[in-house]
Amino acid sequence: MPIKIIIEKCTGCNLCINACVFDAIRIVDKKAIIDLAKCNLCGACVPACKLKAILLEKPQAKVVKPDMQDYQGVWVFAEQKKGKVQPVVFELLAKARELAEALGTQVSAVLLGNELKGEIENLIWQGADKIYVVENEKLVNFLDEPYTNVLSELINKYKPQIVLTGATSIGRSLISRVAVRIHTGLTADCTGLEIDFQKKILLQTRPAFGGNIMATIITPNHRPQMATVRHKVFSPHPADHKRKGEVIREQFDGKHLNSRTKLLDIIEELESTINLAEADIIVSGGRGMGGAENFKILEDLAKVLNAAVGASRAAVDSGWIPYSHQVGQTGRTVCPKIYIACGISGQIQHLVGMQSAKIIVAINKDADAPIFKLTTYGIVGDLFEIIPALTKRFKALLKK
Ligand code: FAD
Repeated sequence: MPIKIIIEKCTGCNLCINACVFDAIRIVDKKAIIDLAKCNLCGACVPACKLKAILLEKPQAKVVKPDMQDYQGVWVFAEQKKGKVQPVVFELLAKARELAEALGTQVSAVLLGNELKGEIENLIWQGADKIYVVENEKLVNFLDEPYTNVLSELINKYKPQIVLTGATSIGRSLISRVAVRIHTGLTADCTGLEIDFQKKILLQTRPAFGGNIMATIITPNHRPQMATVRHKVFSPHPADHKRKGEVIREQFDGKHLNSRTKLLDIIEELESTINLAEADIIVSGGRGMGGAENFKILEDLAKVLNAAVGASRAAVDSGWIPYSHQVGQTGRTVCPKIYIACGISGQIQHLVGMQSAKIIVAINKDADAPIFKLTTYGIVGDLFEIIPALTKRFKALLKK
């Protein structure tokens, strides 16, 4: 039994009962009894017992450290859609170059798909020294199983020390499966990556506890060190058409390429979600918009600014705008250069999705709205007056 009461020491004092949040302990005849069906071996009762009458034996996790020297190079998963490498990949390649230079190693991109010729050169021009290419008609669109099989096999064969992907729907789905398959750690949704020069390990920084602190996470015992990174956190390098790189082609058989899921269709709505994540400027509307028809004034402003339209959950739940526009904890995480929040109060669940924006502007008639604590520029007033006035002014300034 992994947990037991030492009956001779127990006095039935109740302290362990108070410590147990699972209601797994009761006192019978002045002795504590643990209900193993309820106990999850959290150990909270052990320090609570002043008489040291509870014995918990947790099996020690065995850490088999890989030989760190075997793992070399920084990899970027080159996510493609319809054969086009996604912009976040170029942002990651620029950061990967920095990390690789700090480690004295090379940058590689991994490109899975079919008929990808034009994109290979592009990846080299944007910073990759090597490209691992797997082309097969079964890889033309992303599917979890074949992509996980292929990427895991490549990692096991070539042993990179760092693997980065975009924090996109595809990147998040793929890399978490790969991490489980190859038994390593993963930090999702990073907003910062650096190298610890002394230990030569990757410092992976991301917001934690609803964005209240920035946590820096390390993977000291496993390889590779893996992270997903949000859009627009890093800037791509300009393409250097003189750069040369090595192309390594790999083939995989049917066993690796099989999938239990079948892609039936790609629906256009999903495409607009991606635009939101990649937009430099987002104009977002909340409950203060007052109705679906009023989003027209937001769309007009967005058009002039070449911006995407976002929304709070309140606006989405009211049926004013589709879910794919929702920003926040249960919507998209965005990181544009400018985020304009209109009629959005600034609840934490919204803020976690947009607080990494470089410039935040809020328009709200309530001067005490919490969003103003975060804003670079705050405009207190009625959005029905302010948004059309902004559109008019930007139209004149931008000559549109
Ligand atoms: P409100 O809080 O009602 O704010 C409306 C604002 O509009 C007010 O500040 C008001 O002063 C202003 N206003 C009204 N009229 C005008 C006007 N004419 N001119 C100017 N200003 C005006 N929310 C999200 O947004 N995204 C999420 O992903 C999300 N996930 C959630 C997950 C969970 C588990 C939970 C519990 C909640 C989640 N929420 C999310 C909901 C969140 O808690 C808030 O309820 C929501 O963000 C509020 O939206 P809002 O700011 O548009 O509405």
